Amino acid sequence: MKRRIIMSKELAKTYDPKGLEERLYQKWMDNGYFHAKVNPDKKPFTIVMPPPNVTGQLHMGHALDNTMQDIIIRFKRMQGYEALWQPGTDHAAIATEVKVIEKLKEQGIDKDEIGREEFLKHAWAWKEEYGSRIINQLKKLGSSADWERERFTMDEGCSKAVEEVFVKLYEKGYIYKGSRIINWCPVCQTSISDAEVLHEDQEGHFWHINYPVVGEEGKYVEIATTRPETLLGDTAVAVNPEDERYTDLIGKMLELPLTGRQIPVIADAYVDKEFGTGCVKITPAHDPNDFEVGKRHNLEEICIMNDDATINELGGKYAGMDRYEARKAIVKDLDDLGLLVKVVPHMHAVGTHDRCKTTVEPMVKQQWFVRMDEMAKEAIRALEDGELTFVPERFDKTYLHWLENIRDWCISRQLWWGHRIPAYYCDECGEVVVRRGGAPEKCPKCGCTHFTQDEDTLDTWFSSALWPFSTLGWPDKTPELEYFYPTDVLVTGYDIIFFWVIRMVFSGLEQTGKAPFHHVLIHGLVRDSQGRKMSKSLGNGIDPLEVIDKYGADALRLTLMTGNAPGNDMRFYWERVEASRNFANKIWNASRFIMMNLEKAEIPEQMPKESLTQADKWILSKVNALAKDVTDNMEKFELGIAVQKVYDFIWEEFCDWYIEMVKPRLYSDTDTTKAAALWTLKAVLGNALKLLHPYMPFITEEIYCTLNPQEESIMIASWPEWTAEWDFAAEETAVEVIKEAVRAIRNVRSSMNVPPSRKAKVFVVSEKEEVRSIFEDGKVFFATLGYASEVVIQADKAGIGEDAVSAVIHEAVLYMPFAELVDIEKEIERLKKEEERLTKELARVNGMLGNEKFVSRAPEAKIAEEKAKLAKYTDMMNQVQERLAHLTK
Ligand SMILES: [Zn+2]
Ligand SMILES: [Zn+2]
Repeated sequence: MKRRIIMSKELAKTYDPKGLEERLYQKWMDNGYFHAKVNPDKKPFTIVMPPPNVTGQLHMGHALDNTMQDIIIRFKRMQGYEALWQPGTDHAAIATEVKVIEKLKEQGIDKDEIGREEFLKHAWAWKEEYGSRIINQLKKLGSSADWERERFTMDEGCSKAVEEVFVKLYEKGYIYKGSRIINWCPVCQTSISDAEVLHEDQEGHFWHINYPVVGEEGKYVEIATTRPETLLGDTAVAVNPEDERYTDLIGKMLELPLTGRQIPVIADAYVDKEFGTGCVKITPAHDPNDFEVGKRHNLEEICIMNDDATINELGGKYAGMDRYEARKAIVKDLDDLGLLVKVVPHMHAVGTHDRCKTTVEPMVKQQWFVRMDEMAKEAIRALEDGELTFVPERFDKTYLHWLENIRDWCISRQLWWGHRIPAYYCDECGEVVVRRGGAPEKCPKCGCTHFTQDEDTLDTWFSSALWPFSTLGWPDKTPELEYFYPTDVLVTGYDIIFFWVIRMVFSGLEQTGKAPFHHVLIHGLVRDSQGRKMSKSLGNGIDPLEVIDKYGADALRLTLMTGNAPGNDMRFYWERVEASRNFANKIWNASRFIMMNLEKAEIPEQMPKESLTQADKWILSKVNALAKDVTDNMEKFELGIAVQKVYDFIWEEFCDWYIEMVKPRLYSDTDTTKAAALWTLKAVLGNALKLLHPYMPFITEEIYCTLNPQEESIMIASWPEWTAEWDFAAEETAVEVIKEAVRAIRNVRSSMNVPPSRKAKVFVVSEKEEVRSIFEDGKVFFATLGYASEVVIQADKAGIGEDAVSAVIHEAVLYMPFAELVDIEKEIERLKKEEERLTKELARVNGMLGNEKFVSRAPEAKIAEEKAKLAKYTDMMNQVQERLAHLTK
């Protein structure tokens, strides 16, 4: 049901965003303006919202990201597209699981004790309670997303899509289970992706250790390591094949200390001859590079750690010790055996888990992987063929770099909150069955009916990679999918190009045959006023909700877009928010002024061109050109440039110039062009509000609907388009000439300190007939803006006094009689006082500089200072006396 709200015809006295924003958002919701539906009569335009985490709290990054999307979607909606902004939230596997564990801990409940099923009940309850918080915060920002279509990565449809993709990729051979080296967090007890590992430089050591050569008494190979405990898992020592120092060692066996095992010396080009001793211990199960070496040389992978990073039973006497405890014990034992050569302090990069800051342990594990080579090729092709473009283009490089260096994607996580892997193992024979719709009834191999589902869940990005099409109903062929997909533009930060953008692209291409969006609009980070990243640990974050509370969402949105260029970081200043609020006040007050004057004349629906004055045509022509410019910028996603143009137009051209130009017409009882002025004010304000609406939706709605009570909402009004009707090139030029004259007069007056209240006659002298007629046409407002008591337009200098002050503009000279600008008696008095003061100052300075004692004793700088004063006062004195002579002659 549409509900029409009849507004009072008057704007509130002062602009107060608080009550207004809440009321208007409710109106938009009630009227269903955000809802988009399949409509064959319209062209679709789709944006899929990057789903915020259900654990999320609105931060400046969200505020920027969503403001940009809302601007584009409101713009397209007004342009007549069926504009869908598809929203939803992400289950955020690890983030949520951690929150739920914490909450349970507070209640004294342990995750492992209650078990999987019970834990998931708690997790869902948590989601029900807190999951919509971020959505409500996005609403406060004014987001016009289609909330009726809100989705969740773990809802039924999205989960079905996940299962479908998993099974399809598995059947195609793109998903496999394999033992691979992965990043393991011993605290979170799960594998984590490369991108979740932070590399920090830490102080550590190089432990140099001798490995005895088998059968050659007293001969050793010296290796250096930063993690001596991994020695327990060594299966070789490698040297560079071209390293002449070690040629004779290759193929020999070494005694691996503390283990009783023997390991070979192998040759591999991966070893850097210059680094350390040139001999490298190889631990395939605990180092990614060693893992690769191990594969090349068929080395055994000996995993010596448990999941909590304690040493396992393969570690002999060290079994059960924590990795750092084992390190100490091993170093001590090596020292006792005389095998520890030296310990050298060493700064090196250590990988830590971005969430819990634990040092990550590379480990070999059975995990599920997605084979990336083929799908990465397709994603590269899509960019090269222009199926997909980045704005700005330079992010092509980031995208390609990631894809060209991509490794197989480890998708299994040892978590409970997430999509459980649809793989089932036969309890009898261990056969693996991957299928849709739950466990199979019977084992295809042995006929057994008992299965156990894989314990792992999928990487949270596995489901968000499907977001652009799973939200539209895929794998079903829904009308929505047919109509709204592929989406038009994805708006996101450069920090998740790898995590998310790439994965959506190859998933979209693989599953639907189409890139999921045509453009990727990249924005930067919002930093603090000193340019630092906003972070919890620095405590420098600014809460967008606090900004909205104090200044309103419109002011926040304008602030975030002012000076914003795609891909670049920006800084947040409270002063800018104040400036945005001041702009809102300026529009509010100007609109109130216009509305209060509307009663002064009958305004027709259409105004015949002949009735319009030069100034009316000028501003109409300006707003007409503005519409074209702003549209062009917005089509190119230059949102910051577009809003700057609207801002400048409203503040300067419209408020500071045009409104001032029409005031004499509105205030005069005899003026016959009042209706034209009012009609123009209303028309131009209406269009300016529309152009501003995507950026400042609330204030524009309030003013627009008050100005046009017959209109339902500015949201569904049509976007201004350039029209030949309002193209007045000659008047545009003419008014610019007058503006130049006004500026010239104001400059002269301010340099002479003439107050605006003091009017003076202005002569406009131009040989050119057309210039004179420009001033004739604009005489009324030119007089007001130029503080003229009278305007005289003539072709020569006849009748203009010698002492008249002049200002030169293009093709004309302006003269003002000196006596009218300045009160001569008062000026003489002032100049005489000044002469007196300068005489005293000069006497003092001359006295000092004439004093032998001072000159010989004072520091050089002091003397130079006095000399400079002397020059300055002498100069001023000359000017004062010259002007006095002129005035008293
Ligand atoms: Zn962790
Ligand atoms: Zn079986």
